[in-house]
Order: sequence, then structure tokens, then C-alpha cells
Amino acid sequence: KEMSARENNVAKIKVVVRKRPLNKKEISRKEDDIVTVSENALTVHEPKLKVDLTAYVEKHEFCFDAVLDEHVTNDEVYRETVEPIIPIIFQRTKATCFAYGQTGSGKTFTMQPLPLRAAKDLVRYLHQPVYRNQRFKLWLSYFEIYGGKLFDLLSDRKKLCMREDGRQQVCIVGLQEFEVSDVQIVKEYIERGNAARSTGSTGANEESSRSHAILQLVIKKHPEIKESKRKNDGDESKPGKLGSDIMVLILARIEGAEINKSLLALKECIRALDNDQIHIPFRGSKLTEVLRDSFVGNSRTVMISCISPNAGSCEHTLNTLRYADRVK
Ligand code: ADP
Repeated sequence: KEMSARENNVAKIKVVVRKRPLNKKEISRKEDDIVTVSENALTVHEPKLKVDLTAYVEKHEFCFDAVLDEHVTNDEVYRETVEPIIPIIFQRTKATCFAYGQTGSGKTFTMQPLPLRAAKDLVRYLHQPVYRNQRFKLWLSYFEIYGGKLFDLLSDRKKLCMREDGRQQVCIVGLQEFEVSDVQIVKEYIERGNAARSTGSTGANEESSRSHAILQLVIKKHPEIKESKRKNDGDESKPGKLGSDIMVLILARIEGAEINKSLLALKECIRALDNDQIHIPFRGSKLTEVLRDSFVGNSRTVMISCISPNAGSCEHTLNTLRYADRVK
């Protein structure tokens, strides 16, 4: 069936900005905190010099769906971002939450606890009487886009490839999915996956700036046939196929060098969907290619823009915010 943009009208995107506190190093360097937050608005006070070298401050004001200041806890971040989309997933709507921002702006800090909290809520939902008898199970997969290629973080960085299935859904061939019945197991998989990342979790180096990490939580009926098949061919799972009887939550952390390209591609996709264009340029980047199901139909996307507060990051901060402002 031809995918028309009108049918699959534009995804609803919620834009949330999170400011981290000044860190010890910035404080010891006596750097100024140049970002002030007031409800869902924020102001960046950019230090500037005139030609005659007199200093002045240029103010940049922005408004978003939500702005979380440096006092906001990860629990509150969860409540603002992922928690509201949990019930929506059970209406068979795909949901994606991703964080982006310069290295050191708090993406890992922000994203790390989210899958655990989300898994806990999803499992709780599955225990409700309506779902209890439907053989629904929660599955987890975790992969990395690195240098335009896909690697499974839960199976020795096996290289993966992407295909479109008959229903024009993205399908990641070979991606291992693991059934997760409780939160402790989710934690173990995340830790295992993090250890397999191209960087570990040290963050601020060249390598990390080219890697996007994508964790999927999928709810689908327990495939009984697969069980018997699995006995024969080891632990080989089915591809990470996003069929209609499943519900997906994608949590991603996107990084550095490719970020501009990826986000630009994402913006192009959103614009094309908005304008009802037939051709949506998902191929613009690996990220939009992988996440494209998240941007069509009645999917939901929560974008968390992470920003650093220090004067030295002003340019990056403004870039991040200007991008967020355009997606809004
Ligand atoms: P990124 O993943 O964007 O490179 P990190 O999440 O690693 O950045 O954050 C950089 C540093 O700042 C880490 O030491 C992290 O613990 C700290 N940090 C980030 N956000 C916060 C926050 N909201 N509150 C306290 N510390 C934070």
C-alpha cells in the first residue's frame, strides 16, 4: 500500500529542554551560569564584546513544551517525558524518546535511568486484567549506530542491516531481542550493552561523538512457534520487526559529529510529512532511517535537548536550542 503522508500525518513531537548544573571544573574556573529558566521559557545570556572591546550581554529567549532546570531530578524528568507516553503505547502507537546535545551536556545522565523506569511501568501495565491473559511479553533490544553502521550491543557487536518489510516498516535484520520479565533483568541487559559500546561510558572523547545508542522496548505476543525453532538454531532471534500487533518504545541517545546531519535529516522528514509530501527523505541519515517508523502515523516523539549552563558552552547551547526551536 502506498504510504501517503496525509494518512500518516505528522508525528506529535514534544520538545523538552534540560539544563544541567555547573560542574566542579566549571565552578573552579569561575565560569558563569548563563542560562536562566522560568517555567517553560529560558534565556541565554551570551557574553559578547563590541569592536572597542567593551563587554555586553546579548539575550536569547526561547520557549518550549517544558524546560527543566538544574534542580530537576531524574524522576521528574521521567514524569515529564516518558511516563505520559506509556498509556499511549498501549493504544498501539509507537513512541520514541531521544536526547541530544553537545558532549558533556547530560544525555547519558538523563537517558540512563529511563529504560528501567519505563520497563517497570510497562510490566505493571501488562499485569492489568485487560492484558494479563493476552500472552503479551516485554522484549528488549539494544544497538548502536556507529559511523553509519549498526551494531548489536547485546550480541558481541554483531553487525546488523536494515531492511524494509512488505508493510514499509523498518526491519533490523539479525537484531537480538530478549524477553524481560522483570526490571532487574532489564538493568543487566543495559549494563551489558553499555559495556559493549564503542566508548564504554566515559563520554567526552572523539569516539563517543560518532555513536548513537538505541534501546527498544517492544511488547508483543509470545510467539510459541519460535520457542520450538529456537531449540534447533540456538538463540537466534527473529529480526526486530515492528509489526502491527506490537507496541514499541524507543529510547535513544544521539551524539556529536553526526548529530547535525541526523537532526537536519529529521527536520527535513518532519517538514515533508507536514507538507503531505509523498517522498519523505528518511534516507538522509542512518538515524532517520532507523527511527522513521517513529515519525509517521500517530506516533509520539519526545525530544530532550540537553544543555550545559557554562559560558564556555554558549555557542553549542544556542545551536542545540535553535534546533529544538525549529522542530517544535
Ligand atoms: P553526555 O552524555 O551528554 O556526554 P553526561 O550525561 O555524561 O553527558 O554528563 C556529563 C557529566 O555531567 C557527568 O559527570 C554527569 O554525571 C553530570 N551531569 C549531567 N547532567 C547532570 C544533572 N542534571 N545533575 C547532575 N549532574 C549531571
